[in-house]
Amino acid sequence: MRQIEKIEARAADLGNGMVIRRALPSRQRRMVGAWCFLDHAGPIDFAPGHGMNVGAHPHTALQTFTWLIEGDVLHRDSLGNVQVIRPGQVNLMTAGRGVVHTEESLPEERRLHAAQLWIALPSSVADCEPAFDHYPDRPRWAEGGCTFTLLAGTYGGNTAPAKLHSPLVGVDVCSEQGGAVELRLNPRFEYGILPLEGSIRIGAERFATDEFAYLGDGADTLSLELAAGTRILLLGGEPFGEQIVMWWNFVGFSKEEIARAQREWESGDPRFGEVAGHDGKRLAAPALPWAGY
Ligand code: MN
Repeated sequence: MRQIEKIEARAADLGNGMVIRRALPSRQRRMVGAWCFLDHAGPIDFAPGHGMNVGAHPHTALQTFTWLIEGDVLHRDSLGNVQVIRPGQVNLMTAGRGVVHTEESLPEERRLHAAQLWIALPSSVADCEPAFDHYPDRPRWAEGGCTFTLLAGTYGGNTAPAKLHSPLVGVDVCSEQGGAVELRLNPRFEYGILPLEGSIRIGAERFATDEFAYLGDGADTLSLELAAGTRILLLGGEPFGEQIVMWWNFVGFSKEEIARAQREWESGDPRFGEVAGHDGKRLAAPALPWAGY
């Protein structure tokens, strides 16, 4: 068996006391295919009014991909979309040249469990018009005692409804009783698995909740054991062929591009637009980490 990297997701505070664990990017691993960001939020209980509330912030050259497992979250964006996302649903926002959004738990909500992902856009489409899509339904099936939900891409003859720009896949696999399962892989893809609940075993190696397993590429199957009450997120994709720069909420292909996005966000440039209806604060970009830009 190939050497599997174990990467412990690190805690980060989104503000409002909402602590998430970030699996990507990490020092050891920046991306899996075009997947360049993975935050695991919850499962967490909170008093009404004390859930997630992320103020207006911009994105560039990426797609935000929200997989909601528990709780209801309201998305608003500078394109005028106001969309509640509910458990089992996906929101996909294509930032392109620039977009702004807010995300908040509904006022009466008491629970949140979600995976927040970003997908880097290839440079050929990175400047595209921003767009937002809500996908209420996706392929779901039982296999080997597990429930599979296809989030993105193609798996086992199923294709998820999501507009993507590079070859990738995302699958949620859930097992109540626990047991062994064989995953079908594409040898051209590199893969990673994050246990969102419970734990898994790959060969002799155990991965607990929030211990990300980076699997590399070249395999067409993977045997793993899921403990009872386990939910995993399988991410895969063709290794991204371009070097990206990621900083704060921006993706770009040079420090100059990132610096320009930061200046334009801070100066209120119309590139990013405004989010109507959210009463929270607009988030300020921190100072750039590089001198001379
Ligand atoms: Mn965002």
